[in-house]
Amino acid sequence: MALERTFSIIKPDATRRNLTGAIVKKFEDAGLRVVASKRIHLTKAQAGEFYKVHAERPFYDELCEFMSSAPIVAQVLEGEDAITKNREVMGATNPADAAPGTIRAEFAESVGENSVHGSDAPETAAEEIAYFFSGLELVG
Ligand code: UDP
Ligand code: MG
Repeated sequence: MALERTFSIIKPDATRRNLTGAIVKKFEDAGLRVVASKRIHLTKAQAGEFYKVHAERPFYDELCEFMSSAPIVAQVLEGEDAITKNREVMGATNPADAAPGTIRAEFAESVGENSVHGSDAPETAAEEIAYFFSGLELVG
């Protein structure tokens, strides 16, 4: 299995509750390395562009409001099978369905305010990394 990179967001519900360190520890304990990281406050338009694949879904407007309501921490995580591993550490979208010990089981407040985003495939990981980071900011 080759080294892989994936894109992660620590969402506003988590930064608001000062959970950044606790969530990064979950990634690091799972063998994922933070190779880029920045704390930024998205505009609603920037959140809308990032989540445009969900534009027709009923929760889209609420999701964009939420994602622009407070700072996020955008990160690139590197490791063996990083995309799948990150999704495992995150847990299911709805915290009620998330396995014990996962980030969403421990920290998420609801299906919408669920503490973390993670890319779901190699193509989306590459697109999402490029949306937030330049090559110079990926420092290994
Ligand atoms: N979401 C929501 N209501 C839903 C499904 C999703 O508010 O019924 C939000 C939630 O924040 C989720 C994001 O939209 O993380 C993207 O949805 P997706 O299905 O891609 O879930 P994820 O990949 O984040 O697990
Ligand atoms: Mg998704």
